[in-house]
Order: sequence, then C-alpha cells, then structure tokens
Amino acid sequence: MANTAPVQQPEEKKEEVWSHSRIATAQRCARQFKYIYRDHLTGPGDFAAMKRGNAVDAAFNYLAEKYPDLCDTYGFTEPEYLVSIRLGKNMKPIKNKKTGKFKEDHIEVTIPELAAEREIIHQKILAAQPGYEPDLVEHAAEIAIHGYATFARKGYRIARDVDGKPLVQVNLFGRVGETLMRGYADFIAEHMKTGERTLFDGKATGAIPGYTEGYVRHAPQTAIYKILAPRQEKRIGRIDRVGFFLMGIAQTKRQEVEVTVPAKEISDEIIKSITLVRARVRLYENLDYWPREVKAAHESPCKLCDFAAYCLEGNAAGIRPSDRYPSRDEEAEIEWY
Ligand code: SF4
Repeated sequence: MANTAPVQQPEEKKEEVWSHSRIATAQRCARQFKYIYRDHLTGPGDFAAMKRGNAVDAAFNYLAEKYPDLCDTYGFTEPEYLVSIRLGKNMKPIKNKKTGKFKEDHIEVTIPELAAEREIIHQKILAAQPGYEPDLVEHAAEIAIHGYATFARKGYRIARDVDGKPLVQVNLFGRVGETLMRGYADFIAEHMKTGERTLFDGKATGAIPGYTEGYVRHAPQTAIYKILAPRQEKRIGRIDRVGFFLMGIAQTKRQEVEVTVPAKEISDEIIKSITLVRARVRLYENLDYWPREVKAAHESPCKLCDFAAYCLEGNAAGIRPSDRYPSRDEEAEIEWY
C-alpha cells in the first residue's frame, strides 16, 4: 500500500524586510546585529539618550497629529526662541540679558493649546514609555512642545494624505535596488508660504552642527526615504525636499533647526552600500561567526551598546526575548503597496 502520510513541506523562507536601522546596526557591529535581528533579544535599555529620544518622538508625533494646522494661527508671527514654556524642575530658568540674572518667573506661554497639553503628554503619552523616569520625561515633553511650537512658527503645517489624515509616522515600503525595505518617516510638512512639501525625520540631539546639507545628501536614512517616497505618491502626495528637523537638548536654551535639501539632490549611492552590507551579513551567516566590533576610544560602538555587559562580560542581567517581534519591518501590511 502506498504511503499516504502527508509530506511535510519545508517552511517557505520569507524575504527579509530591511530598514535603515537594520542596515545601520549591521554596519556598526555584526555581533549586535545578531543579538537584535537573528536572536531577537533586547537589552536592559538603560540609556537616557535612547529613552529621551523615544519620548520626544512620541510627544512630538502626538502634537503633530492633534494640531496639524497650528501654523495657520501662529506661523511666522515671531522669530525663534520666543516661546518659553516652563514644564518643571528640569527646565532651568532663563537668564535676563540686561541684568545677567536668572529670571525665575520667566514663563511666557504664547501657544496656549500646547501649554495645555503638557499634563496630558506627561501622563498619557510618556508615563507608558518603557523605562519611564519622571525627570527625563519632563525634559522630553518640554523639548517636544517647544519644538512643535517653533515648527508652527516657522510656517510649517503637517501635510495630509489622500484621505485627509495627517502624515505623521509615514509608512514607506518598497524596493531599494533589490532589497525590500520599510521606513517610517516622522512627518511630512507643507510650508504655508512656499507650498513646498518636505519629508522630515525629527531628532532630539546635542549634535546639531553635524547635520549639514552635505550630510543630508549622503545620509542613508534620507537616501532610503527619497527612493521609497515617490512609490507611494498616490497616497502621500509629492515630496520636494527631504531632511531633518533638529531639536537641541540643552536645558537652558531651546534651539530648533531644519536642514533639508531638494529630494533630487540626494545621492543614490545607498543602493550599492546596502548591497555590500547584505553580502557581508550573508558571509557572517554562512560562517556562523558574528565578529565583535570592539574598538578603542570614543568611537567604539560598545559605548552605546545595550548588550555591552552581556557581550563583553557575560552578564545576562536584563537580557530577554524582545517583544518587538515580529517587528514593524516584518509585518506584511502592504495592502496599499
Ligand atoms: S558590546 Fe560592542 S562588540 Fe558587543 S555587541 Fe555591543 S557593539 Fe558589538
């Protein structure tokens, strides 16, 4: 009698979906790449900079979705830095230029809608963040509120998609060369005077001078967005410029700057660069060897690596399976593609 037992088919291997951060991690350290994208581990998440960056993103996105047209009321009325919103003890008092003394009472709230949001941001948006710390969150909320106020005063509104939805956390998907990629651009803005539409990544950073126009032309993140965005033009509309909206994280002085270039000026070199990164990852996989990128001095990737104690000392405290898998990259939500 013939054997009728069902033949088990080998599971079909899904094509890997790459993102800017997956590429950047593979470039930074093969071992870190393995921990995150092959072993699906997460580390203790102790870095204040990482927590603050995530918190600023969450608060800024909340404001952008809720007040996409704030510039219609407040845009272009004042130069930068006139909006000062004191949110708590993390915000140091501002110095009076004439007397040289700190003005404890300098609380100028010129955008009441945003000032009214600070408690909501604190309690509903940021208190739920992993690794919540009240002081850090107060600082993050203050950066985001000030950043969004300045964004509106510079004459930017949040653009809308074909259904009228504000374009915040814009899901971009498609091929960059041969590689299937997904990106989440923070927001697309439209300028009330020029009408130009800019795809922005927002960053809370202490390193604003590093973001030059030359950097924007060659940065992997902007290059990937520039290639993916036109593929979704029917949904998100045209993109004229691509760049970064930078929010300084100094506690005594707020600073927000945009650095953008016309989309057509952004380099396509990223396609070759991604091909090389993927070839290297295939080699590590074939060898089953993922080298540590331990380098000396300040540029060592280990300095900002969440796996440092695990990788370098064998200390597994705080190491656990990541709850981010399948990640946003792997989810097959491509119905509009
Ligand atoms: S500690 Fe250094 S070598 Fe180890 S995974 Fe992190 S970056 Fe790589």
